Amino acid sequence: MTDCDFLVVGHGIAGATLAYVLRQRGHRVLVYDPGQPNSASNVAAGLMNPVAGKRFALSWRAAELLPFAGTFYRELEQRYEQAFFFETPILKVFASLEEQNSVLARSVDRPWGDFVAGFATADPGLVGVHAPFGGAWLQHGGHVAVRELLAALTAEGTRDGWLRREAFDWNQLDNSSGEAVYAGQVRARHVVCCEGAAAVRNPYFSWLPLTPNQGEVLDVDCAGLSAAQVLNRGAYVVPVGDGKFRVGATYRWPPFADGPTAVGREELAARLTVITDLPFAVREQRAGVRPAVRDRRPLLGPHPTVPALSFCGGYGSKGVMLAPRLAVLLADFLEGQDEIWPDVSVERYNALRPVGVI
Ligand SMILES: Cc1cc2nc3c(=O)[nH]c(=O)nc-3n(C[C@H](O)[C@H](O)[C@H](O)COP(=O)(O)OP(=O)(O)OC[C@H]3O[C@@H](n4cnc5c(N)ncnc54)[C@H](O)[C@@H]3O)c2cc1C
Repeated sequence: MTDCDFLVVGHGIAGATLAYVLRQRGHRVLVYDPGQPNSASNVAAGLMNPVAGKRFALSWRAAELLPFAGTFYRELEQRYEQAFFFETPILKVFASLEEQNSVLARSVDRPWGDFVAGFATADPGLVGVHAPFGGAWLQHGGHVAVRELLAALTAEGTRDGWLRREAFDWNQLDNSSGEAVYAGQVRARHVVCCEGAAAVRNPYFSWLPLTPNQGEVLDVDCAGLSAAQVLNRGAYVVPVGDGKFRVGATYRWPPFADGPTAVGREELAARLTVITDLPFAVREQRAGVRPAVRDRRPLLGPHPTVPALSFCGGYGSKGVMLAPRLAVLLADFLEGQDEIWPDVSVERYNALRPVGVI
């Protein structure tokens, strides 16, 4: 029998950050993940954007989450001697004079704090960028190389034996003794489900209101396009080096496609064409499923009736910015040091759990 303190199911950005925090605190952690190249975390463009969406509103808790995430990813950079976090200005390109006016009108109250560095009311003249109405310059955001980060952690985990490259079978979990015993082989004080969108099929958590949606991204070569910033207009265009950019993302509700689609590719290519006149070549296209939640807030905390089991996820389209702070919050909770914030707590949905379900 293998003994551990925490058994983490899933090694996307949610499970990986949680496992890292718990290990750093000296706990014995065991992680299960078969490794899926098309997991949301492996597909994500890794953008951390403090102000986003059609309403150009400050992201939820951005003032706390973003600096926290930056420091967290920097720590991992030091540990693995590899660059993961690229703090980059983001230009929110205005699509029209109306949009420019409405954003400028709201800027008087500075609802975005110091995340907005300034405005361009005319074309800022970036090479290859079509921005006749100017845009808003955002600061303190950027992008994280999530796939590379997870690969570094995975390499360590497989080498040191804390990560098993296999799927966890929930039917083999025995909670009857107050602790968790898995497949008669592993005993854990606590199990945390970090399965991403796959949690809709989890026998313990299928009642949670996860509303997964599928997204696609393109990797393109676009020689000459200004790479000193992320561009955002209808799509985001993230510079990833050497004239390469990641363009995202589409949103699709069920039924999902099996993988990348021609429609997704055309949609993203069309959006990129609005941003630049320069020719580009699509090098890669990927699709993944975002673990979104009905009220667009994460889901964190213990199962209502199984004390040795918790949930960590529901990060929707913001996993990169959310994961570090929420990993620490859940770790604090599991150590009895803090309460789960009510607006992210699983408890807010406990009433949805049907009678008779575990
Ligand atoms: C196209 C696209 C673009 C995106 N762009 C961004 C972006 O720019 N910025 C941003 O912040 N977010 C972005 N996101 C969202 C982001 O990817 C998610 O918020 C985040 O990755 C969710 O992380 P997760 O760990 O909860 O889930 P996942 O990444 O899906 O990871 C879940 C893991 O659990 C494993 N697993 C599942 N079931 C089991 C089991 N039974 N046993 C063992 N392992 C299991 C899977 O193999 C997987 O590795 C994007 C998503 C998509 C699809």
